[in-house]
Amino acid sequence: MSASAVAPVKIAILGPGTVGTEVVRLLTAQGEDLAARVGAPLTIVGIYVRDTSVERDPVIPRDMLTSDVDALISQADLVIELMGGIEPARTHILQAIASGASVVTANKALLASHGPELYEAADAAGVDLYFEAAVAGAIPIVRPVRESLAGDYIDRILGIVNGTTNYVLDEMTTRGLPYDQVLATAQELGFAEADPTADVEGHDAAAKAAILASLAFHQRVSLDEVFCEGITAITDADVAAATESGHVIKLLAIAERTDAGVAVRVHPALVPHAHPLAGVHGAFNAVFVETRAAGELMFYGQGAGGAPTASAVLGDVVSVARHIASGGKGPRESNYADLPVLPISAASTRFQIRMIVEDRAGVLAAVAEILAAKGISIETVRQHAGSAGPGAAELVISTHRAPERDLESTVEQLRGASAVKDVLSVLRIEGE
Ligand code: NAP
Repeated sequence: MSASAVAPVKIAILGPGTVGTEVVRLLTAQGEDLAARVGAPLTIVGIYVRDTSVERDPVIPRDMLTSDVDALISQADLVIELMGGIEPARTHILQAIASGASVVTANKALLASHGPELYEAADAAGVDLYFEAAVAGAIPIVRPVRESLAGDYIDRILGIVNGTTNYVLDEMTTRGLPYDQVLATAQELGFAEADPTADVEGHDAAAKAAILASLAFHQRVSLDEVFCEGITAITDADVAAATESGHVIKLLAIAERTDAGVAVRVHPALVPHAHPLAGVHGAFNAVFVETRAAGELMFYGQGAGGAPTASAVLGDVVSVARHIASGGKGPRESNYADLPVLPISAASTRFQIRMIVEDRAGVLAAVAEILAAKGISIETVRQHAGSAGPGAAELVISTHRAPERDLESTVEQLRGASAVKDVLSVLRIEGE
């Protein structure tokens, strides 16, 4: 039977913004191919907007616009939520599920904060809730982790999942420019929002880390369990010191399983030049997955943008529409595990500590003694005499793995030591 002879899958779109407009464009332009792939035509039954009189991209048919969201949802088989934010997106998704519609969303903020409520509602109603576009835009990562790697054992995920911060750090590294200048240019070029807080403070990456950790470790990890530190304190001197020690600074989303539990964190980290994540430039994203059987895998591509994100949304739409057309339901994420989610103090990391010390004999021994008293052993030391002014030197110490819980008090002690004039920065080293 040809696709056109089968009942259409009725689609409602909520929010024709940057991503929603591109979703409409692809659905319209590729309608016949998508119908053939699904085995049923895909029909947009309406597009929800707050104000139908606003001028929009010509690809959005005016006669499809409606401000009656309840009526729209009630006639849909599949609701694509692209409004963003928590409310009213949460209410409309629950409404769609309750009326028997499957849902595709790109809303990481909502999934990271209300995921369990939504997954359970979809499960109870026997409908799909798909969200490939919520993590790393166009990059297929949700499905590989949830389905392709479901037979393996994931030890660790290291992700560059925020394009804005990768762009800023990359420009600082390759051009030697200061943070403020790069951020201002990023805003002018549209790589950064007018209010960049969610990106530069790491909140956006933390939401994605929570989603990835939940999928990878088969359990619930919520946003408030993710340690989060952004890039606002990174200076051009930090970047230069990283280059000198053979590293680049990246904002990483890290999810790892240890014997004690699961640890999820977002922070800037020194990544060695030889690591595949060090070669991720500009606003690109990449997710590096370490597994027991498959070994190391890297997923790379565009983490944002209307068309790239719409590609991920459409992939979900085709999968979900196939289930609707065949009367089935896709696999859902499993959440049987109940490992403790560990605080950052339980993590064990390598550190690079940059400080200004007095340029005299015995200083290195004094610093080493403070670290040794905490059981922190030094791996490498670099000293630049004279670079920090007369009588002072810059000392850069890289440690072996050490518990985070000892870090703060160690740095306090270093700050109080007579030989130490200032502790300039402490950065974690990952990927070695
Ligand atoms: P956007 O350009 O701001 O578009 C949002 C759309 O939703 C607009 O049409 C807006 O309508 C509508 N909307 C917002 N709040 C609404 C409300 N309370 N009631 C009714 N309509 C409302 O956002 P976007 O960049 O397309 O992002 C959409 C989703 O995709 C978000 O969850 C985002 O996190 C996710 N995402 C985006 C990207 C990306 O590159 N943009 C990448 C990955 C994931 P008005 O035009 O009337 O304001």
